[in-house]
Amino acid sequence: MKTVTLSIILTLYFVSCSFAQTKTMEDSIKKTELLIKTDAEWKEILTEEEYQILRHKATERAFTGKYNKKHDQGIYLCGGCQYPLFYSSEKYDSGSGWPAYSDCIKGHVKEIIDNSHGMRRVEVVCAKCNGHLGHVFEDGPSPTGLRYCVNSASLNFEEKK
Ligand SMILES: [Zn+2]
Repeated sequence: MKTVTLSIILTLYFVSCSFAQTKTMEDSIKKTELLIKTDAEWKEILTEEEYQILRHKATERAFTGKYNKKHDQGIYLCGGCQYPLFYSSEKYDSGSGWPAYSDCIKGHVKEIIDNSHGMRRVEVVCAKCNGHLGHVFEDGPSPTGLRYCVNSASLNFEEKK
């Protein structure tokens, strides 16, 4: 009887442990912990151009960004907090003058309705630091039909080794 009770207790213990582990993993995928910095702190770590674009929603001039024509294999990170945002495999030349991606890393890019400049657009920001990236349009290539139009100054590139 004692052995049976012990084995039941042990089973329950292992079941609850593995359950807790799965739960934690799911939470980390779903929830991105927000990185909060003061305006002065952002100014210190970003260049003036990065600061104006990431923190004040400015836009770099078309065809001037460092990643517009980049086709190397790797991953594009947030220029503010280094959070992974886009894979190079989703990057394509939209001809617009800004880097374009047909998809983002799920959950890492947040969408916000933007009614500024007399237009209704969907702004995209980094889910971790809320840094402005650009906008997403529905005129991209299949299968997503999306075009994430992003400022080079909002990104950093990490080459695939
Ligand atoms: Zn970020």
